[in-house]
Amino acid sequence: MTAQLIDGTALSRRLRAEIGRRAGDLGAHGPRPGLAVILVGDDPASAVYVRNKVKACAEHGLRSVLETYPGTLAEAQLLERIAALNADASIHGILVQMPLPRHIDPHRVIEAIDPRKDVDGYSVLSAGELLTGLPGLRPCTPLGCMALIESTGVDLRGRHAVVIGRSNTVGKPMALLLLQAHATVTVCHSATPDIGRHTREADVVVAAVGRRRTLLADMVKPGAIVIDVGINRDEQGRLCGDVDFDPVRERLGPDGWITPVPGGVGPMTITMLLANTVQAAEAAAAAGGGADPASVASLSH
Ligand code: NAP
Repeated sequence: MTAQLIDGTALSRRLRAEIGRRAGDLGAHGPRPGLAVILVGDDPASAVYVRNKVKACAEHGLRSVLETYPGTLAEAQLLERIAALNADASIHGILVQMPLPRHIDPHRVIEAIDPRKDVDGYSVLSAGELLTGLPGLRPCTPLGCMALIESTGVDLRGRHAVVIGRSNTVGKPMALLLLQAHATVTVCHSATPDIGRHTREADVVVAAVGRRRTLLADMVKPGAIVIDVGINRDEQGRLCGDVDFDPVRERLGPDGWITPVPGGVGPMTITMLLANTVQAAEAAAAAGGGADPASVASLSH
């Protein structure tokens, strides 16, 4: 018997229904939650990601504004647009699709976004809120991974979790969220010798590297939960993750859990973007008076 699949598409469907309901509640009393998506340049992968985000908004009662600019856009012009969106009360979330052209400093751009509208959770303030356990907007992909783990019903308290990868957008926030859930956390990266030594002891492994076959069957223990964040292509050009899926699934056995690629983390990332936008809109509504205590409570993840 092989490990059970954690179906990110099915979980997304359930969570998005609830998000749509919250968006509808907001729309009944004020503006619908609004997301501004900015795309600079003509990177084809970015164009697909942006399209999917806009489509998901439309399907779940959120308003979205897509602004596309040529790759020659000056950084100052982009910052001006962000300032205008910061001041626009009908916009609750601002997402600037990465990567940006080389002449634009992504840090300056991220820091220009009003922290209350930082639905990607990439700003220094959002990172600090996560680090210190304050309520705030958390990065979407790690948040999605946490929801996938929670859906197994396994309590993380006291479990050993290993994160492979330490990027600011995935690996590091993932490790902090696991820590907040009372796991004992190890972070591996490109300078870690013998990653298997750590993952073989792990109850949870999150692979966020971007290199296929990073996690092999002899690197996991039966019964573990494996979350595959990676997006890669195999020799046939098919989408695959960082995990050697079939042998790892076999090794995990019937008590283990694993996410597929595609259909695991991918849909959850967009779901959490919708959730963060609704959360930001609820916070704005609460700040504008007539705060609904339930909405205020939902500020904290
Ligand atoms: P990234 O910024 O390139 O970071 C990759 C991390 O992997 C780095 O910390 C790097 O270590 C580490 N690494 C590289 N080679 C390694 C090796 N041989 N052994 C162990 N660690 C190694 O990438 P990212 O943005 O975090 O994304 C990671 C993957 O997730 C990519 O495939 C990306 O496409 C995918 N992704 C998917 C989603 C989704 O929604 N499904 C969302 C975001 C990202 P160093 O720090 O030491 O260099």
